[in-house]
Amino acid sequence: MSDSDTKTLQEYDRKYVWHPFTQMKEWEEEAPVVITRGEGSWLIDNDGNRYLDGVGSVWTNVHGHCHPYINSAIKSQVDRLEHSTLLGLASEKSALLAKKLIEITPIGLEKVFYSDNGSTAVEIGIKMAFQYWRHIGKPEKTKFISFKNAYHGDTIGAVSVGGIDIFHEVFRPLLFPTVQAPSTYCYRCELSTEQNSGRCNKECLDQLEILMEQHACETAALVIEPHLQGAGGMIVQPEGFVSKVRELCNKFDILMIADEVAVGFGRTGYMFACEKESVTPDIMALSKGITAGYLPLAATLTTQKIYDAFLGDYTELKTFFHGHTFTGNPIACASALASLELFEADDLLNRLKPKISQLQSRLESLLELPHVGNIRQLGMIAGIELVKNRETREAFDWAERTGIAVCREARKHGIFLRPLGNVIVIFPPLSISSDEIDFLMDGVEKSILSITGKTD
Ligand SMILES: *Cc1c(COP(=O)(O)O)cnc(C)c1O
Repeated sequence: MSDSDTKTLQEYDRKYVWHPFTQMKEWEEEAPVVITRGEGSWLIDNDGNRYLDGVGSVWTNVHGHCHPYINSAIKSQVDRLEHSTLLGLASEKSALLAKKLIEITPIGLEKVFYSDNGSTAVEIGIKMAFQYWRHIGKPEKTKFISFKNAYHGDTIGAVSVGGIDIFHEVFRPLLFPTVQAPSTYCYRCELSTEQNSGRCNKECLDQLEILMEQHACETAALVIEPHLQGAGGMIVQPEGFVSKVRELCNKFDILMIADEVAVGFGRTGYMFACEKESVTPDIMALSKGITAGYLPLAATLTTQKIYDAFLGDYTELKTFFHGHTFTGNPIACASALASLELFEADDLLNRLKPKISQLQSRLESLLELPHVGNIRQLGMIAGIELVKNRETREAFDWAERTGIAVCREARKHGIFLRPLGNVIVIFPPLSISSDEIDFLMDGVEKSILSITGKTD
């Protein structure tokens, strides 16, 4: 095929593709790596160069690329049924997957509403919570509590509950207002004062409680990324935070929406992050890892209580009028089912434990590098925050884009990474081997040194 030489593909990309979260002026000036194959933890470009997928193709890949078991599940599903709608029909794989999801998610979640990406999974949660209060006769509960540094996706509702100014501020006039609680960004805590001299008394929780008390009557739900704010910079919440949030939601009669789009499906060492402190949210959003990184699929789970509030005669208009065309797509559901079978067959969560320890010790040794300010890890997820000055915690100027430079350097070492500002993200497939973890962390270390070493 004459189309598939690298130069031609690069030219078509440059000419026709508008890339996400990308300054296209810069993109147009360089020749991108064109990925054409995947194999386990590796991405392979059109010229045969291999890159270890250090961010699991943006936090989606679980069992490695082109896993034979998932591949064959998808192939046999394609030969059976590629798609049929859930509007007016049930389907085999969506029913089987829903049952399975209810079995493995925290006790109390009973119903599955499908969509096809993380943003919609959150939007659905928001709309469900909003409408729930109308149905039970508390229509004044319309507001949402969100967190600074939160990321819940890019559609308008999801952006409304987001808290990353650099992405979200420009859209402010389009958004619904929320009550914003402080982030648990302990390394740069905005709440530490001279009186507490940086000692953590969980002031963020006190503030949250004050906000909840003030706004309880008008608040429908609180939206949280449990245990780890992902796109905000891999910000890990202190122990006890999530269970306390659950307690406060109960106290003030506010629904808890847990966005596990990034942290779900084993990433934290638990199947779902909420399990860590035995929390059941009222609504849970899942996507990214749900199909092991194969296909777009999302699910919003909720309780019997919320579901029941939507039951009534048709003319009462209690129906949840929401639905996406490809809801519950059979091929996507088949890949999700196959992925969950692999979790069990491979005893994946148990086999993850030594890998998590290995990653931890490799991360700890990075603290010796002069520009590594803070390292945050939760299970197989990590963020390495690079700083200009370690003593003062002075950040690198965002416009310098040190994070990007490090990730670019990593390609020379056969590693694909994508940073969040000056935070280097480690988010590999859970199937990564011990040798590959060493390969990844060796490359990360060398790349950080060669980019920031000089600026000391
Ligand atoms: C990625 C992400 C989303 C958005 O998912 P999309 O599939 O990109 O719409 C929402 N919430 C969290 C926590 C995420 O990490």
